[in-house]
Amino acid sequence: MRNIPECTHLDALTEVTPRTRQGCEECLRSGGRWVHLRMCLLCGHVGCCDSSPQRHATEHFQQTGHPLMRSMEPGEDWGWCYVDQVELEGSELRFSSAPAPAPGL
Ligand SMILES: [Zn+2]
Ligand SMILES: [Zn+2]
Ligand SMILES: [Zn+2]
Repeated sequence: MRNIPECTHLDALTEVTPRTRQGCEECLRSGGRWVHLRMCLLCGHVGCCDSSPQRHATEHFQQTGHPLMRSMEPGEDWGWCYVDQVELEGSELRFSSAPAPAPGL
């Protein structure tokens, strides 16, 4: 029997806009640095990835229980579910407008 992990949280997706387009919300406040940015798909919180010193995206999940996030890196449209530990395709993220404008075609 095949066992493909599947995210059961996609119904919770709503259209959100990044609360802080400039960077990680907590790092901006504390003057910290981040490596990559992740946006919570349930409330628009912007946090830093697990390669960043403070891992605010993961901390946001632990504090709020919001399991879905997406990459905010230019050209990346994948997402991640912290609960199911599965990667989500950009097409699964429905509204899925990339937060950063794509470079001109
Ligand atoms: Zn899920
Ligand atoms: Zn941060
Ligand atoms: Zn959130």
